[in-house]
Amino acid sequence: MATQTIREKQSVHHHQVNRLAQLKAVPKEMAMETEGLHVYYGDKEAIKNISLSFPKNAVTALIGPSGCGKSTYLRSLNRMNDEVENCRIEGSILYKGVDINSPMANVFEVRKQIGMVFQRPNPFAKSIYQNVAYGPTHHGLKNKKRIDEIVEDSLRKAALWDEVKDKLHRSALALSGGQQQRLCIARALAMNPEVLLLDEPASALDPVSTGKIEELIGELKKDYTIIIVTHNMQQAARISDYTAFFYMGKVVEYGETSQIFTNPQNEQTENYISGNFG
Ligand code: ADP
Repeated sequence: MATQTIREKQSVHHHQVNRLAQLKAVPKEMAMETEGLHVYYGDKEAIKNISLSFPKNAVTALIGPSGCGKSTYLRSLNRMNDEVENCRIEGSILYKGVDINSPMANVFEVRKQIGMVFQRPNPFAKSIYQNVAYGPTHHGLKNKKRIDEIVEDSLRKAALWDEVKDKLHRSALALSGGQQQRLCIARALAMNPEVLLLDEPASALDPVSTGKIEELIGELKKDYTIIIVTHNMQQAARISDYTAFFYMGKVVEYGETSQIFTNPQNEQTENYISGNFG
């Protein structure tokens, strides 16, 4: 067997190193991103130049002390801030290569594909069935069988079907808080979104209902991209893959959740996660 020359050995070695580098460098697919985002309420700048990307089929947690801009940022991701008088946005929010604020984007389509669930469960004063069917019928779907399928499928995905299948036509307001919140998740899922924005979805719930929501989020990320605001550090550590630490309208630190919680690079992040402020 011919012995390898040093040059050949180096070449093989280089090839392997390059391959490893390539494997590591495979970019994650992003569901959406903001570039140089600023959000103002009148003269007050609530979001100061935030650029963040959200990997597909992963959970990204937005954490930080109260008033640092987490909700403002989240709401801008599906144009909920359109409803706030005096609110103005600069910079871009890219979803499928299009800026959601550009004239090419349709706000109804944006909110359909980027669904949102709020802190307080807010079901309509209608039946469980009607809550979930509302979006698709409102968008013109008339086929009863298809609507039934969407209702069942959405309730199953929201881990609520078994609890409500025998009382679909009863009022949603008779459900417990935790069930109402899962119903609100089902209502968002009925629109067949790609991204789910969750604004402290469990903060008004008891520990058992909170556990169910957390478990559900773990299931949902297989099919959806999730961006969640939470003030609960343990929750962020348990359920998210990536974490962005917000402070005074800026993202001070962003990284994999395991790194942020075990080895934060920034002193403010470290103080916050160790409970020293906020
Ligand atoms: P967080 O979600 O981190 O608690 P918010 O996004 O709610 O923070 O608030 C960020 C800043 O913007 C705060 O100073 C808050 O008072 C201000 N703010 C939030 N909503 C409005 C609004 N509708 N009008 C004016 N200021 C607002």
